[in-house]
Amino acid sequence: MESRVEQPCPTCLSQDGLTMLTLTTEIPYFGEHTQITLICDSCGWKHTDFIPSEGLKPGAWTLPLDSEENLSARVVRSSSCTVRISGLDLEVTPGSASSGFISNVEGVIKRFEDAISIVLKGPDSEIDDVRDIANDLLEKLERVKNGDSSAEIVLLDPRGRSQILHAKAVSRDLTEDEVTTLQVGYDLPHLE
Ligand SMILES: [Zn+2]
Repeated sequence: MESRVEQPCPTCLSQDGLTMLTLTTEIPYFGEHTQITLICDSCGWKHTDFIPSEGLKPGAWTLPLDSEENLSARVVRSSSCTVRISGLDLEVTPGSASSGFISNVEGVIKRFEDAISIVLKGPDSEIDDVRDIANDLLEKLERVKNGDSSAEIVLLDPRGRSQILHAKAVSRDLTEDEVTTLQVGYDLPHLE
C-alpha cells in the first residue's frame, strides 16, 4: 500500500512529504509484521523498518557462531537494533542512515566484511595499525564463517523489533543500563 506522510525529510529537510510503502506479511517464527519503507522524492533518502504486529520481542538475542549451521539462522534487524559480534569487538549501531533488513547470520557477517573492506580501500589504510587491525578482523571473520570460533552474534534492540530466528538463539530483556546507553536511530513518524 502506498501513501503520503506529511513529515519533513530527516536528511534534506524537504517539506514535500515522504512516500510510504507498507506491506504486512508473515515470517515463520517471527510472526506477522509490517514492513514500512519511507522514501524522500527530493533527495532519494530511504528508510526501511519492521514492526512486529504481535507485541514487542525481547530486547536482546544471542547466538553462538560455533557451527556452520548457525550461519544460516535468519535475522530480523530493525533500524533501532545494535548488532555485535562479541569476541571480535565488532559493532554496528543505529545511525541516522540505518535501515532495517532481513538476512541470515552469514549476510550480517558479509556486511561487516564490506565495511572493513571500505576502510582498507580508504586513506586510513596507509596507517599500519589500521591496516593490521582490519586484516586481522577479516581473518577472524573467515574463521567465524567456518564455524570455528567462540564468537557470538548479539542483537540489542530497545524498541523490541528484532530477532534471531534459531532454536539455539537465547533471548533476554535488556538491562536498565543498556536501555539508557543504546542508540535507537531514526524513529518512524506516528502514523495514526
Ligand atoms: Zn530528502
